[in-house]
Amino acid sequence: MILGAGPAGLAAAAALAAEGRRCLIVDPAHRVGGSIRTVREGGWIVETGPNTLQLEHAADHELLCSYGLTDQILEAEAGSARRFILSRGVLRGLRPSPLSLLGSGLLSPLGCLRLLAEPFIPRGGREGETVAGFARRRFGREAAARLMDPVVSGVHAGDPDRLDMAACFPSVHRLEAEYGSVILGLIRRGGSSRRIVGFRQGMQQLADAMGAKAALHGELRLGWKASRLSRGSDGWSARIRRESDGAEEEVRCGRVIVTLPAWKWKDGLFEQRMFERLSPWTRCEAPPVTVVARGYDVGRIRHPLDGFGYLTPGEEGRRVLGCLFPSSVLPGRAPAGKVLRCCFLGGARQPAVARREDGELRGVVDRELAETVGAQGAPEREWIQRWEQAIPQYDHDQRRRESCLETLEREEPGLHFHGAFRGGISLMHAIRCGDALGRRLATRP
Ligand SMILES: Cc1cc2nc3c(=O)[nH]c(=O)nc-3n(C[C@H](O)[C@H](O)[C@H](O)COP(=O)(O)OP(=O)(O)OC[C@H]3O[C@@H](n4cnc5c(N)ncnc54)[C@H](O)[C@@H]3O)c2cc1C
Repeated sequence: MILGAGPAGLAAAAALAAEGRRCLIVDPAHRVGGSIRTVREGGWIVETGPNTLQLEHAADHELLCSYGLTDQILEAEAGSARRFILSRGVLRGLRPSPLSLLGSGLLSPLGCLRLLAEPFIPRGGREGETVAGFARRRFGREAAARLMDPVVSGVHAGDPDRLDMAACFPSVHRLEAEYGSVILGLIRRGGSSRRIVGFRQGMQQLADAMGAKAALHGELRLGWKASRLSRGSDGWSARIRRESDGAEEEVRCGRVIVTLPAWKWKDGLFEQRMFERLSPWTRCEAPPVTVVARGYDVGRIRHPLDGFGYLTPGEEGRRVLGCLFPSSVLPGRAPAGKVLRCCFLGGARQPAVARREDGELRGVVDRELAETVGAQGAPEREWIQRWEQAIPQYDHDQRRRESCLETLEREEPGLHFHGAFRGGISLMHAIRCGDALGRRLATRP
């Protein structure tokens, strides 16, 4: 049985189905996909959850194709390799090359020199070092504040002074240990095969394809919520409740995969002994994020929008964390002659901003887009999505939290945890690891 039909649960279910194993998936929502939210209307394809997937290896592409999506995968436009950072009021474009950084004006000459000195900085750090601490130590204060800080607020909606480097960016963290330098490690490891992709009909198309594959051998119960999980001498038993009328059923199974977000675990889902084991998770934060997506006539935006979007360092003191340019990244996101912008507000450093009323948010986004990309007048369309708890924060306690899951999985045979709360927050990570978990479990009797 799988609790949660988000990307993590669907990937595990699809892998089990591929091996001919039956499973029941339960989710209180009336559609599959969890944090994936695609709005399709009037020629617009708007993502108010994840916008794109980052593929790391050829195997990631093959996995997406295995969901029947081979001719539905869209590669990001070449021009979107350019990313902007808003610094001292100006959007500074960066391409994936060190020379581009030096010529962007993002860092002062001294800041550039300090960054280039990184290979000469001896190994250091301590367990539990924060992202900001790591970045300052290796790259210098300026690069930490103007480069690493906006990446952290863009990816994790987090505070770099509180997030754990090893937990948030394990591959970068390992470069220091293995090569003595992040820059040398990147050079020696060779070119990256990373690709950014989306889908013709948006991210929901991916979730629907995974759901269809899972349903081949399994059963999807949408509108049903798992309310109690217990283990007896003959396996697991889950109480599930239909949200519409409160009807309840008891389901017995040999194994359970828990993929619902950690902030939902306190709803009496676990028996006391398991809940006590999970106590470090009661302090796992997931701050709110509000997404304001806007459609404009192309003539109303002065900036050429020739890139992926921009991120904003905390030192700028602005209200918007960053803004994506989806119609510059993937084809078909906006009708002809229109452009789509997608702003993110809130996160760990400004949670109150995410909770402002629609009218106030509109004012903030109006000012922001006028100042940064020269937007004039009212947008033609607008979509607002509120995520009261968006992204789990991997802070200093994350490793302890993850190790308590390992202990619980050892103590409670047949119980498995998988989701954005563990090991990585990206969508592709949830899918890749969900697939691996499903395949592993399919080989067990
Ligand atoms: C605004 C936003 C933008 C993002 N952008 C990107 C991006 O561009 N690229 C990227 O790689 N990642 C992005 N992410 C992260 C990515 O969306 C998540 O990592 C991914 O969705 C996690 O999948 P999951 O299955 O672990 O959890 P979720 O997607 O949260 O799914 C969990 C599921 O559990 C269900 N559930 C809840 N309670 C119960 C219960 N009691 N019983 C059964 N089921 C239950 C929920 O309804 C939900 O369907 C973004 C996230 C957000 C919020």
